[in-house]
Amino acid sequence: MHIIHVTAEMAPIAKVGGLGDVVTGLARACLSRGHTVDVVLPFYECIEKRQITDLTLITTYNSFHDGDWIPTNAYRGEVSGIPVIFVEPSNQFFKGKYVYGGSYNELEAYIFFSRACLEWMQVTGVQPDIIHVHEWQTSALPLLYWDMYHQLSLKRPRITLTIHNMEHYGECRQEQLSKCGLDGAIYATTDKAVDDRTIGHNPERLSLLKGGIVYDNAVLTVSPTYLKETLCSGWLSSTLIRNRDKYFGILNGIDTAIWNPATDIYLPVKFNAQKLEGKKFCKNYVQKGLGLPVESAGIVEGKDVVNGTQRKVPLVVCITRLVAQKGLHLITHAIKNVEELGGQMVVLGKAPDDRVEREFKDLADLYNEGPAIRILLMYSEELSHMLYAAADMVLVPSLYEPCGLAQMIGMRYGAVPTVRRTGGLADTVFDIDDHSNSHMANGFVFDGIDEGSLNGALDRAFSLYKNKPDEWTGLVRKAMERDNSWNNTAGNYIEVYNSVRVR
Ligand code: ADP
Repeated sequence: MHIIHVTAEMAPIAKVGGLGDVVTGLARACLSRGHTVDVVLPFYECIEKRQITDLTLITTYNSFHDGDWIPTNAYRGEVSGIPVIFVEPSNQFFKGKYVYGGSYNELEAYIFFSRACLEWMQVTGVQPDIIHVHEWQTSALPLLYWDMYHQLSLKRPRITLTIHNMEHYGECRQEQLSKCGLDGAIYATTDKAVDDRTIGHNPERLSLLKGGIVYDNAVLTVSPTYLKETLCSGWLSSTLIRNRDKYFGILNGIDTAIWNPATDIYLPVKFNAQKLEGKKFCKNYVQKGLGLPVESAGIVEGKDVVNGTQRKVPLVVCITRLVAQKGLHLITHAIKNVEELGGQMVVLGKAPDDRVEREFKDLADLYNEGPAIRILLMYSEELSHMLYAAADMVLVPSLYEPCGLAQMIGMRYGAVPTVRRTGGLADTVFDIDDHSNSHMANGFVFDGIDEGSLNGALDRAFSLYKNKPDEWTGLVRKAMERDNSWNNTAGNYIEVYNSVRVR
């Protein structure tokens, strides 16, 4: 099969969150199964070109926006072993220091990008079996495909859509959609793309994501539990129920080529489940680097001493976008609680919202000079690898979580997950005290969104870590040995592709 992903993110060159990881991991898994895969990405100005191999201009063409034909370049290159086509319009779209948040109109830029991808296929005659779109950003593509390009020369492709997060639904005015050459008014009906909550308002709004759900051949979301949750709640649930027979929940995997503690280029010492000494080295390395006390150097004082040697101090990490979905009040509470419990915690996070940024900046000012907590308000791929490797525990206290990669990456690096039971977290982490499921047990799970629920899970984790080191090490090994790779789930994607493609 020939599969083309059309996406706003791709790890590691244009990654903001899990979407980027998923595209790269799924593409690699399909390539390794012998399929032909390309990723099409906007050529963001912020992409570091040195991470692209064999970058070559392949097509110069025009694509339509707001009454004009915009000269556009398509480049081909390779990123992390995956063929990528970069679409570069000659206007201001995709300029700026970051993937998102440039000073251009983002909605219009992604609608333009969606059409520019189809236009490129039409101009070059490339007709994949599957065009796989992701999130609202590329959800205008199926509308453009069925109502425009399929009427022209693109006949073969079928379209699949993965929804990574239902909260972002691509709110759009009719006239904004019209800028790509479709008639926005045609989509303003309940059975097409109208945002049902705005019916009767002036003006009513469209949702690109809803349009994508209606117009795609198959809709996927990123875990079986999130699929159930989205059928039960949220304004898109009625649309999803109407499209239930083409809606699938497939658990994400992690890209085990990028996330591998035995080969990871960012780690000072590599390790695996059988040889954990390297993990201890990584922990000490990170502690030293961040100015946190290192117990092996005998600096940690006042901790329980057993048989003349000091008990280890658990290091908890939380690596996340700092947004409400991630349970911000639980993260700030964990900072206090971990300190009280005698542990160490590092938060690596970036807040798109200024108010949240200020709140965490104040916490950083309060704690970062102290002996237990480090709050690092930045995005750093390199640091994230080192922190997963150094951590004893990874905390994911999300209010909702479609799939979540941090808990799976953490497990692969021997960081035992402590998570809230929601979405994909519920599908990947199983509590060690749930005796009905002990063969799967690999972490600590809590249910409530209150601080007491989190305390309970952290207490249990700290207690096992401190009092039963052998059991803890067994848990670390078990978490590391669990296969969270795409090998496990890419086959389900292939089945869906096969079920919709033209033979
Ligand atoms: P989401 O897609 O909602 O952001 P996921 O858990 O699915 O959440 O994926 C998050 C991905 O982004 C993980 O690979 C995580 O390590 C990474 N990540 C999040 N915040 C940062 C950060 N500040 N620095 C580096 N990596 C980060």
